[in-house]
Amino acid sequence: MGKKIIVAGLGHGGIAAAAILARAGFDVTVYEQKKEGTLGYDWTDIFAPDALGIAGMSMPSKDKFEYKEDMTFFGPSMKKGLRQHVPEDKLEIKMERRDIYEHFIKHAVECGVKIEYECKVLGPVILGNRVVGIKTEKGDIYGDLIIDSCGMNSPVRMNLPEEFGIEKEVARNEKITIYRAFFNKASDEAVEAKFKVMLFAGGELGVNWIASENDHTDLLMGRFEDFDIKHVEEFADYLRKTNPRLGTEIIRGGQFVEIPVRQPLSVMVADGYAAIGDCAFMTVPLIGSGIANSLKASRILANAVIADKKQSFTAETLWKYQQGYYKELGAGLAPLACGKLLLLNLTPEEVDYLFEKGIMTEDLMTIGADFTGLGSVNIDPRALINQAKQVCQDPELLKKLIACGVNMGKAVAACAMMPKKWNAKRVRSWAKVYEFVYK
Ligand SMILES: Cc1cc2nc3c(=O)[nH]c(=O)nc-3n(C[C@H](O)[C@H](O)[C@H](O)COP(=O)(O)OP(=O)(O)OC[C@H]3O[C@@H](n4cnc5c(N)ncnc54)[C@H](O)[C@@H]3O)c2cc1C
Repeated sequence: MGKKIIVAGLGHGGIAAAAILARAGFDVTVYEQKKEGTLGYDWTDIFAPDALGIAGMSMPSKDKFEYKEDMTFFGPSMKKGLRQHVPEDKLEIKMERRDIYEHFIKHAVECGVKIEYECKVLGPVILGNRVVGIKTEKGDIYGDLIIDSCGMNSPVRMNLPEEFGIEKEVARNEKITIYRAFFNKASDEAVEAKFKVMLFAGGELGVNWIASENDHTDLLMGRFEDFDIKHVEEFADYLRKTNPRLGTEIIRGGQFVEIPVRQPLSVMVADGYAAIGDCAFMTVPLIGSGIANSLKASRILANAVIADKKQSFTAETLWKYQQGYYKELGAGLAPLACGKLLLLNLTPEEVDYLFEKGIMTEDLMTIGADFTGLGSVNIDPRALINQAKQVCQDPELLKKLIACGVNMGKAVAACAMMPKKWNAKRVRSWAKVYEFVYK
């Protein structure tokens, strides 16, 4: 049997990496706090299916998914909609979260992964400079490598020693609180767009969506502050004025959850430790999707682990994972996090101005919301000139956009400056520069 790998938490990237590594001969066990069969949420998720193949998984059977509609974005005044145009070969799929988990878990178990449910992880076990295990409610468990897949508030990452230089806390503007529920369909009235995403609707700083399905309406509210069910009810009433299909009865879901929406973790590895998924903030900062990125990261991580012929799993050998992740995904996500900070700094009037004057375009919405579309969208130079002209007419907005552009440039430069090889001192000073871009 190969070296012992512990995966803390049954996150999507963690279980996918576990499967690849078990198939490669490692002894892999996942420790998950929930009961078997209770993972996931009572709603559907959207992700790019090419990520499944990258992680070595098959496509789910056709009755388990459908292709996602393009989203139409609206500013606060709801006057102008901008519809994404994701190329057909890049279309994402929509699947029940429980079916996604079932698919991933079945695959991992077939690959030889062991899963211990109802085992809450409490923190890391540290020996010298190395993570050598996890503390759990059932006692300490030791391993040669700990993959941290416990999500945004991982007790492993948050209890690592300061000297590891790994960020612990997530600032309030780096996570979004989401309420999501499926409501009954109150009428058969035709809708202008099936899948509407509304920025700052009702003048509230946040993102919302309404997807009009055949038999229900899917409502999502996202805010950068805590809110309660009373506020959800008031906001839903406000939306009903222009969305008469949105009923009042909750059929499914109806939960508050949090998603990280920030730049990827500056340092993802330490001796004996690698973070993946929401634990390493791998979501697209403008929209919060993280499943595809976590799957892609699982392959990069597994490749780095398998390439470590001495099986030392030190920060030095695992640095290949961080390097590979930033090269393939992180360097593109990092500037998008500056775009999210810009959004938080805009007034509803400015957001409307961006929509109505053609500064926000369908291309930009495609790129910002669907990261997989990045490479395949053509930006029209004439549109860029028009955008620049319009922006120049509003000096306050121009200032904010320039500041954002400068920060995006800094984020790109910081990613390009990441040390090629692990050197603790150089990595720490690089991480400070990278983190400072977002302060
Ligand atoms: C409402 C909502 C909607 C979303 N929609 C989409 C979408 O449409 N498309 C998309 O791509 N992404 C979406 N995301 C984001 C996506 O869920 C994550 O980015 C992705 O799942 C990666 O996160 P993760 O699996 O690493 O972490 P998590 O989903 O947080 O999973 C962590 C796992 O670790 C377990 N765990 C946590 N703490 C402990 C502990 N102490 N001990 C043991 N186990 C522990 C948890 O029970 C869980 O099973 C959504 C997220 C939310 C909340």
